[in-house]
Amino acid sequence: MAQKVKLLNYDVAVIGGGTAGMAAAVAASKNGAKTILVEAGPMLGGELHTGMSVNGALNARGEYVVGGVATELFDECRKIGGFIGPVHDYRLICYVVLDPELVKIAIARLIDRYGVTPLLYSLVDQVVMDGDRVESVGVVNKQERILLKAKYFIDCSGDGDVAAMAGAPFELGDRDGRLQPLSIMFRMSGVENGPLLSFVRSHPGNLAVGESDYVRAGRTDAELAEAIYRQGEPAVFFKAGGPLMRNAIQAGDLFPTALIMLYPTSHARREVCVNATRVAENIDGVQVGRVSGVLPRLLDQVLTAAGFLQKHVPGFEHASIAGIAPRVGIRETRRILGEAILTGEDVRSGRKREDGVAKGCHHIDIHGEDVEQVRIPVDNGGSYDIPWGSLLPRMLANVYVAGRCLSSDREGHGSARNMGNCLAMGHAVGAAAGLSIAAGMKDIRELPVQRLRAVLKEQGAVLDGVY
Ligand SMILES: Cc1cc2nc3c(=O)[nH]c(=O)nc-3n(C[C@H](O)[C@H](O)[C@H](O)COP(=O)(O)OP(=O)(O)OC[C@H]3O[C@@H](n4cnc5c(N)ncnc54)[C@H](O)[C@@H]3O)c2cc1C
Repeated sequence: MAQKVKLLNYDVAVIGGGTAGMAAAVAASKNGAKTILVEAGPMLGGELHTGMSVNGALNARGEYVVGGVATELFDECRKIGGFIGPVHDYRLICYVVLDPELVKIAIARLIDRYGVTPLLYSLVDQVVMDGDRVESVGVVNKQERILLKAKYFIDCSGDGDVAAMAGAPFELGDRDGRLQPLSIMFRMSGVENGPLLSFVRSHPGNLAVGESDYVRAGRTDAELAEAIYRQGEPAVFFKAGGPLMRNAIQAGDLFPTALIMLYPTSHARREVCVNATRVAENIDGVQVGRVSGVLPRLLDQVLTAAGFLQKHVPGFEHASIAGIAPRVGIRETRRILGEAILTGEDVRSGRKREDGVAKGCHHIDIHGEDVEQVRIPVDNGGSYDIPWGSLLPRMLANVYVAGRCLSSDREGHGSARNMGNCLAMGHAVGAAAGLSIAAGMKDIRELPVQRLRAVLKEQGAVLDGVY
């Protein structure tokens, strides 16, 4: 089928409409840029549709470390009854949960309010270079082929597609090329909170709790289980080493996995999101054939995990599967190398910096094979700063990255890939693009970082003043 080529011209083109991309597009538009948001799929929001918690929005002390566009999204969800949180997991973190159905409405409203042009069902598959500048990107969809020209491109594809196609260097996995497992999230509704939390309280040995000195604060597992009970939310992390999961894995009633993690997603539906499934075969998420090939296995694991919960965990006896994530979850692909690299040590030590343009606070979180998972907390339940240079790919003059593909080592990535940070990074690059265009700047490095920080703070971003 021959396709005609349409020409489009915008100030800012954001590629990828997940958490980072949605925030970047809103921020660019708010800061005066004519903005298009190109998304390969049928809906904006990315992993927010799964119901998993927004980690990295609050530190373990319960202080918000994100604001600005992230707060606008939370407020929009709150208006339509789709905001739950903050919730503490009494393991390592506090998090926010958004109703995964209502968040779709909240995002669409924000995009519309700020005049962002959404372009769904459209894959960016080419770049046209002019020296170190991306002059335009090629977009393909069912209707037409598009040549999309922009002054600045913001790569929020998760995989760093635009930056990589434009020649930016990147890293993948660990030194031996190992990659985190693929998983598919699902939700169960009709969960009885009372029996679930009573079970949690009376069986603390099944739980991962108090994994940082800050959260443990001298408390026993039983006291932390009591705190979960009192909080009254189905926010529970069953660990692989506890008798509940260990016996089931040994008996073949459950596949080997590090966790069964439950987060509340809707009080009205008595619904939780379940993070349990995994296939660890070093699959690079851009290898779509391999990703497609594991789908049947992941879906079988959904049935197995749901059956396990119904049979063994009080409160789930009459619960049923209410939704399965619309796509396979991919934890890591390319880490685009930028002017700065966020490191594991930055995360661990809660490093603060003058060139910080967003914050993170999630522990280093790297899933491995079978029951393996690395979880290393940020010191003292605090936060760290994401440096401006980690969003500026090397060798490119007009491309920013934000979200999962930021410049980081593997440990830094293990923390900063979380959705709270993605929202904050998106805000930073979107605002930067808008400001740079208004000032007639041609290169992403021209904007003084202190000017950007001042504007981000005016717009509600949290850059200082929290632990
Ligand atoms: C199993 C699993 C569990 C996780 N658990 C949590 C958790 O509990 N809490 C948490 O905060 N985080 C969690 N994460 C991490 C987090 O969800 C992701 O890292 C984060 O959502 C990434 O956001 P993003 O905006 O960078 O990318 P994405 O949300 O992946 O968005 C990228 C978007 O770009 C689109 N796209 C990609 N390529 C192109 C292209 N070439 N052209 C056009 N569009 C394109 C995609 O369709 C997608 O919508 C988890 C991740 C996984 C996989």
